[in-house]
Amino acid sequence: MNNHVTVLEIDANAILHNLQYFKQKLQPQTKILAVVKAFGYGSDAVEIAKIVKDHVDYFSVAYSNEGIALREAGIDTPILVLHPQIQNIKEIVKYRLEPNLYNFKIFEAFLNYAKDVPLMNYPIHIKFNTGLNRLGFWHTDIPNIVAQLKKSNNIVVQSIFSHLAASEDLNEQEFTVEQINNFAYIIKQIYAHLGYEPMIHILNTSGVVHFPQAQFDMVRVGIGLYGFSNTAKETTELKNTHSLKSIISQIHNVQPGETVGYNRAFVASKPTRSATVPVGHADGISRRLGNKNGFVIINNQPAPIIGNVCMDMIMVDVTKIDCEEGDEVIIFNHQQHVEYMAHKCETIPYEILTAISQRVKRLVKR
Ligand SMILES: *Cc1c(COP(=O)(O)O)cnc(C)c1O
Repeated sequence: MNNHVTVLEIDANAILHNLQYFKQKLQPQTKILAVVKAFGYGSDAVEIAKIVKDHVDYFSVAYSNEGIALREAGIDTPILVLHPQIQNIKEIVKYRLEPNLYNFKIFEAFLNYAKDVPLMNYPIHIKFNTGLNRLGFWHTDIPNIVAQLKKSNNIVVQSIFSHLAASEDLNEQEFTVEQINNFAYIIKQIYAHLGYEPMIHILNTSGVVHFPQAQFDMVRVGIGLYGFSNTAKETTELKNTHSLKSIISQIHNVQPGETVGYNRAFVASKPTRSATVPVGHADGISRRLGNKNGFVIINNQPAPIIGNVCMDMIMVDVTKIDCEEGDEVIIFNHQQHVEYMAHKCETIPYEILTAISQRVKRLVKR
């Protein structure tokens, strides 16, 4: 039983609102894949899946164990595993997960396994690299892929997809349009030779916002579900989904010249009240937020983090805040606060959210 007082609240209605927001940007027939990898962007993948499963067509996870967790929780929706490994193939099939086959090594390993079992028309997905240079076949691989697919009735291609490198960045618009055009060309060739027409998809959240004309049959929405879009303005249309909350464990009155925390990093220049909060870098609060780079909210007022962030605790300045031990501390409950933290940590909200460790208790608010 996880009784850590620091809790990550997940707002189910906010998730549904955000899903709806992206849905209204799409054609009615476009399918939606909800990306729930990395514990649902640091929240709880099973809970997110339960919240949205009646409103989406697909889920995707990065690794097969993440998909198994969804199946074990009773989620029946198709699940695309974005980054499967050869040693996972047996489990993938056992749990009816649908692998992304991105190179000949895993493609042939899966085909051989499917033939040995034998499987009949097992759904797989094929990824093409169109410029991200991360995972995926090259367009020159098409003849070989198609030849092998046509020989097999053990597998069926459920979808063909690619991933954009810079969909959030309109300075890279030309590159993105080229990726989309290359993808369309790949699809045309495959459709011409395969004998059937699998679903196709290329857009992530920021792709939906900037390039809705490339929505094809499905879009893959991740960060958008969790409340973040391309611009600060558009993010205000979305609802906050993750709120990290804790309580004040102890308050100290620190005299001028005394110090707070490791390395004596905070030195009181005047009488200071410091509050200790049970959340630290092991919970996902970066050390970069120490020394007044970050703040929490106590009784509606900002309390700067003073001194260094410890593994399990932070100390915050509450000199000017009317508060006592046991009072609620909001580490963040707003996208702008997460964006501020990301800015201070020289990163992006994705990393702030996914850094929240499994030690922190998750609580779904419906
Ligand atoms: C993570 C991921 C997504 C989701 O991206 P967002 O920017 O969070 O919407 C979509 N597609 C692939 C291949 C991914 O790895």
